[in-house]
Amino acid sequence: NTGRTPLMAGNWKMNLNHLEAIAHVQKLAFALADKDYEGTEVAVLPPFTDLRSVQTLVDGDKLKIKYGAQDVSAYDSGAYTGEISGSMLAKLKCTYVVIGHSERRQYHNETDELCNAKVKAAYRHGLTPILCVGEGLDVRKAGGQVAHTLAQVDGALADVPAEQAESIVIAYEPVWAIGTGEVATPEDAQEVCGAIRGRLAELYGREVADKIRIQYGGSVKSGNVAAIMAKPDVDGALIGGASLDVDEFVKIVRFRD
Ligand code: PEP
Repeated sequence: NTGRTPLMAGNWKMNLNHLEAIAHVQKLAFALADKDYEGTEVAVLPPFTDLRSVQTLVDGDKLKIKYGAQDVSAYDSGAYTGEISGSMLAKLKCTYVVIGHSERRQYHNETDELCNAKVKAAYRHGLTPILCVGEGLDVRKAGGQVAHTLAQVDGALADVPAEQAESIVIAYEPVWAIGTGEVATPEDAQEVCGAIRGRLAELYGREVADKIRIQYGGSVKSGNVAAIMAKPDVDGALIGGASLDVDEFVKIVRFRD
């Protein structure tokens, strides 16, 4: 995977309160400290209410673990009750923000247009988006996974310049594989991740496309991660359920072992 540092990011979803988050990150840092994990970047994506606690721990102990949020408002401030702005996340020194997770698209009706506005909001505040894309089961059964996913990429990246896009992380997460235990085959993952890189090359040129990290997500576990990571266009994983188990997450981070 030509010079791209793999990113293993744990999406905790709506799990672990701030006290549990501290215990979890301490355990994770301890488990990772005893041996080098060979240039793999590790990030946790906790609920908003945990971020201050995670920041304090990461700052205080100078941990290499990065962190970010699971969503961001498209707006910078104002009368948007319940929302969290990019500047608030930047103030907490978040590196990443997940945008367009399938659970947001499904339960909160998030559209590609909204994802596009959120990607722009993230960049306004120096946050790196982890943009989630991927097809549902009906689309997959009809063979439309590539067209569907590329349309989501196009929508979310509309009017995003190359200088910004080159730092984005795109997570290909087929919806039928998320939280279901049904992982895509390495070939399925490569088909769509390769097509995403091809589209990025059309949009931004080959040099930029080759810099962008594309993750696979959907029931990643220690037992299936190595085969998926062996594919040329897969540069990491977005891990939901398995990221809540520190030992399992550490095995995923050490997929090369
Ligand atoms: C996710 O939430 O992004 C995800 C991939 O979940 P899981 O690993 O549980 O399928």
